Order: sequence, then structure tokens, then C-alpha cells
Amino acid sequence: MKVINPATAKVEKTYSNDNKSDVAEKIKAAHQEQQSWREESFLQRAESMMRAADILEERKEAFAELMTTEMGKLYRDAIAEAEKCAWVCRYYAEHAAGFLTDEVKGSDATRSYVSFEPLGVILAIMPWNFPFWQVFRCAAPAIMAGNTVLLKHASNVPGCAMAIESIFRDAGFPKGVFQTLLIDSDATADVIAAPEVKAVSLTGSEAAGRAVAGLAGKHLKKAVLELGGSDPYLILGDADLEQAAEVCAKGRLLNNGQSCIGAKRFIIVDRVYDDFVRLFKGEMEAAVMGDPMKDGVDLGPMARTDLRDDLHEQVTKSIRKGAKCILGGEIPDREGAYYPATILTEVAPGQPAYEEELFGPVASVIRVADEPEAVRVANDTPFGLGAAIFTRDTEAAERIARSIAAGSVFINTMVKSDPRLPFGGIKNSGYGRELSDYGIREFVNIKTIYVK
Ligand code: NDP
Repeated sequence: MKVINPATAKVEKTYSNDNKSDVAEKIKAAHQEQQSWREESFLQRAESMMRAADILEERKEAFAELMTTEMGKLYRDAIAEAEKCAWVCRYYAEHAAGFLTDEVKGSDATRSYVSFEPLGVILAIMPWNFPFWQVFRCAAPAIMAGNTVLLKHASNVPGCAMAIESIFRDAGFPKGVFQTLLIDSDATADVIAAPEVKAVSLTGSEAAGRAVAGLAGKHLKKAVLELGGSDPYLILGDADLEQAAEVCAKGRLLNNGQSCIGAKRFIIVDRVYDDFVRLFKGEMEAAVMGDPMKDGVDLGPMARTDLRDDLHEQVTKSIRKGAKCILGGEIPDREGAYYPATILTEVAPGQPAYEEELFGPVASVIRVADEPEAVRVANDTPFGLGAAIFTRDTEAAERIARSIAAGSVFINTMVKSDPRLPFGGIKNSGYGRELSDYGIREFVNIKTIYVK
């Protein structure tokens, strides 16, 4: 596996893949360890998880540099990512026991209740865009519930994968609790098929989701899928336009445009269309593109040049089909996988900018007559991850939120993940939930115990 720095296009480091027998050994170790890990108390598990949180904070500069070098996110965002991982570790260290306490249920039994028991070895297939966060979001609850985890990380971030393994090791977790498999995606089929592996969690593209869900189905393994999104941001007639424009630009450029819950389609009511687009363009234009390690930069490179080229193809195809480019839209003449902040207006059905996920700093702007049309267009997508509504009438927004087909709706702010709130989607954005009490209950056996 080659690490290519997307800011410079230079090969930084190469890693050798695990071979079949390495993988078999790791699966065996994960399975054996799980037999004793499941017997550890929540208190003991929590002590190690708290130490993992401390390590994330103590070494955040080194982890951030690794993330930025491997996938190009802004260094300051990478620092925040390491800190957020510490938060999710502490959150589950503190709450797992409460979330998984036996639940008494009334029935005709003398006593009937539900116990929550670990499933076994969980395979986590994770993407490069939040190379630490996506892993900890999955692993912290799974491990606190008494499972062990095997990580198959994206092929462009092997250094992050190894660093995460070292965090768990240095925190004092037994070796088999968390291990990284350095394998290509083709090699995951055998891991999913292994009898010791009981479930799989994937965050990534729709195509990867379909492939992994198919394998999980074939082998009757539980799966949680967090796939892409094309989040609509609805700007209604009474919105605070300055605030909305600022949040929308931030939401679109977050992580150099590569977030599943990034703001992607801007659906604007006619009455405020011109004013909003002017303000929004001003915000997008002001974003400084450059070296992601440097202060004062708002937009770094995309993670890989092939992803940048695919995005540009979506942009040019949309323009050919009638979209208008009012900002950006040209590949800059410099080394690295850079793509400028771009705005497409007159986005309409049949264009990639309307139908597909744009995983980069490109905003799709759609004009609508009124609020009912805004809701119809918001739902006119195969995805259903997040959505946001901007209006001064929060009561109306809460009503509209219920008619939006998405896993979360945020009002007057951007969609974000938070350990305390469930996270996930519907439709082609996947199924299952991560985070909160819902997340930790995905990888447990919800067992009924009935005493006559
Ligand atoms: P992928 O979905 O291909 O990669 C995500 C993870 O899935 C990686 O670990 C990858 O491994 C693995 N993977 C891919 N295909 C399979 C498969 N058939 N079986 C098992 N594992 C698989 O994302 P890309 O990097 O190719 O990005 C393409 C697009 O995916 C983006 O443009 C974006 O639209 C979407 N995406 C969405 C993300 C999200 O947060 N929801 C995150 C990343 C991407 P490997 O790297 O070895 O191929």
C-alpha cells in the first residue's frame, strides 16, 4: 500500500499487505481474545478506554500530521478529529454499562428481562475521509459492549490504521481486542465469510455498501452501513440569509468537501434566491485554498487525484446538461489533488449534480418556488442521510423536518455527528445507527430471559 501525499503527489511511504496466513492468525486471535474480553467488567473495559482517550489527546499533533499527510485534511481539523475521538471513547467508557443494563419487561413470567450480550468479532471496513473518527465511532461502542474488532481501513491511510492499533495497544487493551488488517478490499470477502466474524460495519460508498451487504447477507451476518449522502439544505423565505450563507459554505467545504454529511444541494426559495446566492458565493470565494498543514488555509486538496478527476467529470457533465458554473470548476495548475470551491446553479434532474453525490467542494444550487416544492426536491434523491432547514420559524421547521426522508434534520445549523445522538441514514445512505445508546445496541445479542 502506497501513501501518496495528496498535497504534493509524492509517495511518502509504502506498507506491505498482510498475507492470508497473517489474516487467519489475526481472526483467530480476535476470536480467542473475545472469549475472555466478554467476561471483563464494564469498569475494567472503561479504564482502558479512558486511557485510549488520554493517548489521543496527548499525541494529537502526531496523529493530525499523519492524517493530513495521508489524506489531505486541514491540520487544524485533524487535531479536532483526534479530540473528538477522545470524546467518543470517554462517552462510551462512561455510559456503556448504563446502556447495556438488563431491562425488565412485563409479561406473564415471574420475571422476564432483556440482557445485552456481545456478538463476537466485528469487522470494521472504514474510509479515508475521517480516518480516525470513523474508526473510533465504530470501535469504542463495539469494544465497550465486549466485542473485539478487526479493522480493514481504506488503502490510502495505512499509517492511520497502524497508529490506531497502537493507541489500543498502548492503552492496555489485550492484543486481540483491536487489530488492523492491511488488506485490499478484495480480501475482505474471506474475512466476512470466516465463522469467527459475526458482523460487519462499513462506512463508505454505495458501491462498497452493496458489495459488503451482499456478502453479509450470503453469510447471514449482521451489517451496519453508513454510506453516502446528498444532504439538502433548504433556505426558506424568512431565513437569516447571512447566517445561512456562512453555515452553508462551511458545511460544503468541511473536510475539503469530502464528508458524507456535507452540505451538498442548496434548495432556495425564489423570494430569497438572488440574495442568498450572492452571499453564499461571497463566502465560498473567500475560502483560501492551499497547503493543509498551514494556518489560514480553508481548503486543502482532495484525498486522491482519481477522486478529484471523477468530481471534475461530474461537474463538466452537469454543465453540458444545463448547469451554470458561477465559481471555480477548473482543475488548478499545481501539484496535488486540489479542486477549487465551485458553485453550480440551474442544477436540474438528469445532471450528475442533481442525481449523484458530489464528494468534493462543489455546491449544487437549485431554485424552487416555495416551501412545498423545497421539500419535494429535498426528497427527490436516492440518498437519505442528513438535511438542514434555515428559517426563523422554528416551529414550522420542526413540522417540515418530519416530512424530510433522512436520518437526521438540523435546523438553522449544519448537520454534524455527536456521540450523544444517533447517526445514520435511510434509502441508499444505508441502514443501522451509530453513536448514542442506539449505536452500542447494534452489535449485541438482545437476549430475552424468561423465568416461569
Ligand atoms: P470506498 O467506498 O470504495 O472505500 C471505503 C472503504 O470500503 C475502504 O476501506 C475500501 O477499501 C472499502 N471497500 C471498497 N470496496 C469494497 C468492497 N467491494 N468490499 C469490501 N470493501 C470495500 O470509497 P472510495 O475511496 O473509492 O471513494 C469513492 C466514493 O465513495 C467517494 O467519492 C464518496 O462518494 C464515497 N465515500 C463516502 C464516504 C462516507 O463517509 N460515507 C467515505 C468515503 C467515500 P479500499 O480502500 O482498499 O478500496
